[in-house]
Amino acid sequence: ILLFGGLIGLIVAIAAGYYLANRALIPIRISLEKQQQFVSDASHELRTPLSVIQVHSELLLRHPDHTIEQDSKLISNVLQEAKRMSKLVGGLLTLARSDSNQLELERKPIQFDRIVQECVAKMHMLAELKGIILHSETDSPIPMVADEERLHQLLVTVLDNAIKYTPEGGIVRVVCRKFAHSAQIEVEDTGVGISPEDLPHVFDRFYRGDKARTRQEGGTGLGLAIAKWIAERHGGKIRLDSKRSNGTRVFITLPL
Ligand code: ADP
Repeated sequence: ILLFGGLIGLIVAIAAGYYLANRALIPIRISLEKQQQFVSDASHELRTPLSVIQVHSELLLRHPDHTIEQDSKLISNVLQEAKRMSKLVGGLLTLARSDSNQLELERKPIQFDRIVQECVAKMHMLAELKGIILHSETDSPIPMVADEERLHQLLVTVLDNAIKYTPEGGIVRVVCRKFAHSAQIEVEDTGVGISPEDLPHVFDRFYRGDKARTRQEGGTGLGLAIAKWIAERHGGKIRLDSKRSNGTRVFITLPL
């Protein structure tokens, strides 16, 4: 009986050890896979603007007989791709630092309603250029302890998307309300909307709904991933609601 009991005990101990070791290894394996995917996606995304810059620069060098207009077109393409790369690298750095917990929020007392108004004012010109009405309404004052620069980045990303994905003649509406313990911002647009298949992935790094269209718009696919990180690091939430061709609504909740 003793021998039998000992044997059973040994089998249970081995099984438990195996199970626990495996459980501990799974998150490491998943995070390693995620890192590898991130590096491979980042390299892929950087390769496209780089090859455009390379090809266009070669064309400029090899054709001294080009007209000024032809040269200007090539130079402006190089510049556009360089700007895109710089935006991508900026986003990649933010995410890499946030992954390794090197990015700390710089919290201080702020007036959130003022930040909302500043961001709306900043995006007004862009909306006007696209023939879009940008309308905002906010409670005031909304005192909060938060990282002002990061909240700016969060709101500008969401507003920029709303304007980017709304055709001429559309409306973008921003409403900010103060509750007992939180502030809630809703950004609603009358744009192209997001299909049900795309909606669960919009916060994924490098995910772009309609690749051709968003690349033309200069998107990097990192904006919402960073926006989610900012909202969550503040103890808040961000959520999107949309139907294809029926516009999009973004809800952000931030604790005061
Ligand atoms: P991007 O740089 O491509 O805009 P984001 O991370 O900001 O990247 O957004 C991811 C994807 O979510 C976009 O490519 C787009 O397909 C979709 N999206 C985000 N906001 C909107 C919006 N207001 N209307 C329609 N689609 C949106």
